[in-house]
Amino acid sequence: MNSKRQVKINDLTIGGNAPVRVESMLKISLDKREEVLAQCERLINCGCEMARAALPRLEYAEDLKFLVEHTKLTIMADIHFDPALALAAMEAGCRAIRINPGNMPLNKLNDVITTAKNLGVVIRIGANGGSISLAQLDAAKGNRAEALYIAVREQAELLLSQNFTNLILSAKSSSVPECIKANELIAANYPEFPMHIGLTEAGPGDGGIVKGTACISNLLLKGIGDTLRVSLTDEPEREVKVGYEILKSLELRVKGVNLISCPTCGRRRADVMKLVKVVEPMLKNLPDGVSLAVMGCEVNGPKEARHAQYGIAGTPGGAVLFKEGKPFGEYKFEELEKILPEFLKN
Ligand code: SF4
Repeated sequence: MNSKRQVKINDLTIGGNAPVRVESMLKISLDKREEVLAQCERLINCGCEMARAALPRLEYAEDLKFLVEHTKLTIMADIHFDPALALAAMEAGCRAIRINPGNMPLNKLNDVITTAKNLGVVIRIGANGGSISLAQLDAAKGNRAEALYIAVREQAELLLSQNFTNLILSAKSSSVPECIKANELIAANYPEFPMHIGLTEAGPGDGGIVKGTACISNLLLKGIGDTLRVSLTDEPEREVKVGYEILKSLELRVKGVNLISCPTCGRRRADVMKLVKVVEPMLKNLPDGVSLAVMGCEVNGPKEARHAQYGIAGTPGGAVLFKEGKPFGEYKFEELEKILPEFLKN
């Protein structure tokens, strides 16, 4: 979104003027080939643009090759520190790898860099709150966010000293303030490179979504972040859906319908929760960015509903429907389920 440089992984552009990308990570072992392919297909269907795949051992390199050859989803191999795995991933056809170059012997790292240069492979480097060394913590005088930044800086300088610039930078922590601060430091010192953002180990459910959103939104509003992952203890599709919701709420990127619905109160004339449940499955075929308002009563409902392209405002007996601000008709509650598909047609 804001980096000066843009990198390209197959056809996927990241950074520069490209939209903020939404990523996830495969959560099935690579040797379960058909299951992994099915997960990739589900991810593609919900808009995922890149998925990381862990390559923990060389014996999975053939499975990675199979995956890269059979899915349309861009795959980034997650390597960490074993140069043999990095080389195997590139040989398998991966055009993006995530490594921790600081933990690779220099001569082996040079092999990785040479191969990456020859094949045009993008390397994501980054530090994680759990892997900060004591030396980095000392250098940062105990400040963990700064130590994270120092860890990223060390890795970045290692690659830059070898004239390798096809980079994505990232720093992750499970603490929201720490993660934000570390990413601010990276963006301030390396503004030219695309950044991957996200909170690591955010956890499950509402708490995980809130933590991930708090971190990612804060950074995006400061212009930091070119590609994101909402890490959740959940299916990867959920991570992608939440990622798009964040971008939609910040008006950075629109995917799907913008559903506006009132929280309801004692004035409600329609069961909004029930109505939303009826309407939601019908929204899949509407174009991206269309807005639909579902309001619970005639007090605020009609005005709000008129602003949206499609509006549903509760009345004592049912609801008034609006299309492009004009009344479409008033219907009894029992009639709504039947009339809504007609109403939502173009
Ligand atoms: S639109 Fe009506 S029902 Fe919904 S929150 Fe506002 S006043 Fe309450």
